[in-house]
Amino acid sequence: MDPLTVLDVDVRGKRVFVRVDFNVPLYAGSISDDTRIRAALPTIRYLVEQGARVILASHLGRPKGEPDPALSLSPVRDRLAELLGRDVAFCLESIGEEAVMAVAALADGDVLLLENVRFHRGEEKNDPTLAAQWARMTDVYVNDAFGAAHRAHATTEGLARLVPVAVAGLLMERELSVMGAALEDPHRPFVAIIGGAKVSDKIKVIEHLLAKVDRLLIGGGMANTFLLAQGHDLGKSLVEPDQLEIARALLALARQAHKEVLLPVDVVLASRFAADATVRVAPITGIGAEEMALDIGPASQALYAAAIADARTVIWNGPMGVFEMPAFAAGTAAVAQAVADVAGTTIIGGGDSVAAIEQAGLADRMTHISTGGGASLEFLEGRALPGVEALTKKGEA
Ligand code: ADP
Ligand code: MG
Repeated sequence: MDPLTVLDVDVRGKRVFVRVDFNVPLYAGSISDDTRIRAALPTIRYLVEQGARVILASHLGRPKGEPDPALSLSPVRDRLAELLGRDVAFCLESIGEEAVMAVAALADGDVLLLENVRFHRGEEKNDPTLAAQWARMTDVYVNDAFGAAHRAHATTEGLARLVPVAVAGLLMERELSVMGAALEDPHRPFVAIIGGAKVSDKIKVIEHLLAKVDRLLIGGGMANTFLLAQGHDLGKSLVEPDQLEIARALLALARQAHKEVLLPVDVVLASRFAADATVRVAPITGIGAEEMALDIGPASQALYAAAIADARTVIWNGPMGVFEMPAFAAGTAAVAQAVADVAGTTIIGGGDSVAAIEQAGLADRMTHISTGGGASLEFLEGRALPGVEALTKKGEA
């Protein structure tokens, strides 16, 4: 199952094609958050030190299969050069004559960034002729784009199958090993915390984790549907009536398997979905017909913190409330603090959850913050990731 990593192969003097995830947020043409670029640095630095000829490829945003100057990777090149403290060549084309010449011009230890691979329609279609063009400029393929590993695209999947050796980068390796170890052989108690807006987004994650964990803590909007399934009145809260049967089934499954499932016992209620709404705290039996639950209450915070305190492994995906608004951020912050205090492995997945942890200033107190939102969800669902499946397995080279 384990893919070979970049540490297992000889890269000196080789043309090493590295699929990275440089899909950074851009604001008015400049990079507003370079976390994803920083996350790829260890692999790039390692390859440079080893004297590889490094070819970097990534997508950025959603161009419609054709060049879009607003989604050029050119600003990423500048930031990358700054972070690496060395020159990074940039090619305005990712295939064709220009790209072939740019690759041919590389000396050992040089770094080249190709333009946005999604400027070609075939990338997202996993077109084999497109992948073959990249294969011709590749001696060793490295996938370090965990955030794109759940997609079977030409640079994430097709290309990997056309080259003699395809390995995981250091970031990819860490994502897979930390999350893999937690799921396969966790230190116990193993606690999962699942939140976010909707149950429907995460049913498979809950199902898969229920089989593995000792305790499951549910918060956020999705808790409402479970509470409704238990017969509580949720007023105007976000609920998914079409998920009630599934919520009931999941609770029954947990009972049979003797897993502890915790739901909120109190909530922060608002009269409307707004930062300046009038708020009050009430037990879940006291929700008014016109009110909506937008965060877990203080009693729930204490209950959840106690359920987290003795954990040796924690996986957290999804905020406990509408953390974007300060009035409904306390539940998520309290859980973040409890997770930060855990003496064990703590793993955070999900775009909004990661944002919430950063907002709370606790990112560096977690064992692992996944760089892949969608990919980490699919991994937690127990699904095989196409970008990982396509890599050369240990013992297979
Ligand atoms: P992640 O990105 O970490 O996987 P999700 O995208 O599933 O998380 O959910 C995050 C969103 O859920 C946030 O925008 C948050 O405001 C929203 N949310 C959380 N609790 C509630 C609630 N009680 N009612 C409505 N929305 C909620
Ligand atoms: Mg999200």
